[in-house]
Amino acid sequence: MEVLHSFVCDLCDKKLLHDPAKGHIPLGWKMKEIYLKNLLLCRICSSPGQFNGGPSIRIQDLFEKKFGEKY
Ligand SMILES: [Zn+2]
Repeated sequence: MEVLHSFVCDLCDKKLLHDPAKGHIPLGWKMKEIYLKNLLLCRICSSPGQFNGGPSIRIQDLFEKKFGEKY
C-alpha cells in the first residue's frame, strides 16, 4: 500500500502528494540553499532557469513574500 505524504514547496506553496518510498523527495524537486535558508523547491522553482547567475526576480519575489526579507 502506498503511503503518500504531502510535500509543499517552501517558496510558492505548491503541494504534491508523493510516496517517499519512490524517492525521498518528489521527482524534479530539489533542496536548495537560498540566502542561507535550506528550502525544498518544486520542479518549477528549482528549474535551472530560475538560477541563472543568481535567483531570478520570481524567486526573489516569492522569497520576500514568504519570509519578509528582501535581498
Ligand atoms: Zn515552487
